[in-house]
Amino acid sequence: MKLHNLTPSPTLALDAKVKALQSHGQSILNFSLGEPNFSTPTNICEAATRAIYEGLTHYTAVAGLPTLREAIVEKLWRENKVRYSPAEIIVSVGAKMVLYLAFQVLLNPGDEVLVPTPTWSTYIEQIKMAGGIPVFAPLRPPFKLRAVDLQKHITSHTKVILLNSPSNPTGAIIDEEELEKIGELAIKNNLIIISDEIYDKIVYRSMPLSIAALSPEIQSRTIIINGLSKAYAMTGWRVGYAAGPREIIDTMVALQGQTTSNTCSVAQAAAIEALCGTQESIMYMVQEFAERRNYLLDALKDLTFVPPEGAFYLFVSVEKYLNKKVPSSSQWCEALLEQERVAVVPGEAFLYPGYFRMSFAASMKDLKKGVQHITRFIHSL
Ligand code: PLP
Repeated sequence: MKLHNLTPSPTLALDAKVKALQSHGQSILNFSLGEPNFSTPTNICEAATRAIYEGLTHYTAVAGLPTLREAIVEKLWRENKVRYSPAEIIVSVGAKMVLYLAFQVLLNPGDEVLVPTPTWSTYIEQIKMAGGIPVFAPLRPPFKLRAVDLQKHITSHTKVILLNSPSNPTGAIIDEEELEKIGELAIKNNLIIISDEIYDKIVYRSMPLSIAALSPEIQSRTIIINGLSKAYAMTGWRVGYAAGPREIIDTMVALQGQTTSNTCSVAQAAAIEALCGTQESIMYMVQEFAERRNYLLDALKDLTFVPPEGAFYLFVSVEKYLNKKVPSSSQWCEALLEQERVAVVPGEAFLYPGYFRMSFAASMKDLKKGVQHITRFIHSL
């Protein structure tokens, strides 16, 4: 079997375990998934319903509905100050699939991809599936990526620099002056930049421009990845997109045409409304995330973490609590689940042991209970 070494998504595996416990009647406080607890806003659902009854139920263009690609072009100009044409956009089955297509198209066997850690494990498995080699650039708290952190890992095999800002799991945002230096590094070493900006609307400080907006030269070697899952509470709809050089996008479209075809037509109609309709519910959700973040910063102030600048995760160190009985963060998280029925994701899932990731895309009521349980667990150690 070819992909026998493929590691299943640790967060989805943990979520499956939580759901299994819940189906046996156990009440679990689940802070493991990167999924907003809000329902998709009504205007978006209504647009999808209309699309069904208006007969938008057939295959669409493989790259995505032209109107949706135009809406994405508009979003990238309005919010990220970078200009594309619809032919430089592909819509796919979530940002995950867009990343998969990009790695498949870009990487030859042995090509190296620079990945700052802690990082989202999906990148690593997708790079390996494409025959590439992930090369880690480990960061220390406060986990703010600088160009020098990447520079020392560049070899003659390096092909891609992977950026994720705001980051999953740390919430760190890469500062604009570092983006400029990373862009220069990419130009000097003839590298492609994949910039995953899926959390760009969920921020607690101002968001710098996309790296692609810094110069036409940088844009010509950058693929922006984004999607609707997080900002619009649309995880189940599966709409993500990429913007990048025409030749790369065309090849990703060709690969999509031979695999999934387009993403769901109705979900695409919903995405048009999400991007072009009222943004009020998004503002409300981000405000809620900010309140939950502020609550946790205070309620968990005795724990060790860097306040996240974006996304909806707290990445907490448990190093000081590890001992012979509980020697690793994964065992620590298992014990927390068994003893207190609280699910968080161990740092091992982000190539960064000694930590756990707690999502605050959960209700304030659950977060308050979660804080009590986590505190009680720590005192029991
Ligand atoms: N990129 C990052 C950094 C993520 O955290 C996630 C989801 O957890 C994704 C991409 C994928 O999002 P989706 O496939 O739902 O669009």
